[in-house]
Amino acid sequence: MTLDFQALPKAEVHIHLEGCLDLDEVVALAQEAGVPLPRPRAELLHFSGLSDFLDFLDWTCSLYRTPDQVAAAAYAFSRRMSASGALYADVIVNPTHWPHWRRDLGGFIGALDAGFCAAELDGLPPVGLCVSLLRQQSAEEAIELVDLLAALRHPRVVALSVDGNEKFAGRTGPRFAEAFRRAGAAGLKRTVHAGESSGPEGVRDALDYLGADRIDHGVRAIEDDDLVARLADRQIPLGVCPTSNLTLGLYARLEEHPIERLRKAGVPVSVNTDDPELLEIDLPKEYARCAAAFDWSAETCRNVAATSIRACFAGDEAKTRMLAKVATW
Ligand SMILES: [Zn+2]
Repeated sequence: MTLDFQALPKAEVHIHLEGCLDLDEVVALAQEAGVPLPRPRAELLHFSGLSDFLDFLDWTCSLYRTPDQVAAAAYAFSRRMSASGALYADVIVNPTHWPHWRRDLGGFIGALDAGFCAAELDGLPPVGLCVSLLRQQSAEEAIELVDLLAALRHPRVVALSVDGNEKFAGRTGPRFAEAFRRAGAAGLKRTVHAGESSGPEGVRDALDYLGADRIDHGVRAIEDDDLVARLADRQIPLGVCPTSNLTLGLYARLEEHPIERLRKAGVPVSVNTDDPELLEIDLPKEYARCAAAFDWSAETCRNVAATSIRACFAGDEAKTRMLAKVATW
């Protein structure tokens, strides 16, 4: 049986704009600005570790200086989603990576919105913006960002997120509790990176301190049976990125990845790409890899895709329309 995963109606809920910037475009922007590449073009994606990877993100984002350049990056993101057969995406954007926009969050969100609006007018999939804190930020910086988002009340912004390496930052659930409480009070959804660079305790903190509506990764919850039961009971969705986890060495082989055990335990799991340009992957292939590794039937694939749609932060009407399409695949 060959299944067409491009045609499978789905949502992408764990993907970073910073990990989607087209490398040819980045190189062109660097040349235009007269900025030297950090290493030869062919070796740009040869990372020596996580900090090299994060430095590279900062470098690429620093090349986006004008509103038109940022809008073009947003438009290209929507085109990528369309190519992967996603009907909708929640994209994570972390302002700390974008040096030219750090003091102009409103201008940054406006430029991204212009790109997403133009894309929608051209028939490309709608996108919700999840504005992200970095794990290393302070409680005060986090509250400042949330208060700014609450004052802006931009309709493109659907959620507050937190990403970055928990191994470096240590335990941060209590530190960000007040920022996430304010985000909830301002009507924003809450999505939290946890259970990847942290163990199950990171996932527990995401629920207990941050009121997470969704967890990005969350896969290491598998190490704690009570937590798995809690995620299943409360139907907290996990935005799982299998290849990203393999690349960072969390699991040696896809067959050992806990996505299937979590799914069978009743936890809502979806398949996502995290940083597709940097990992050189796409969403249909991620579904195909999982289907092959875990022997998923067409029915199981439809269920996982439906979970991705239920987990996304689109409106209820849009979700109902998208779910109806999944049934016809
Ligand atoms: Zn991520």
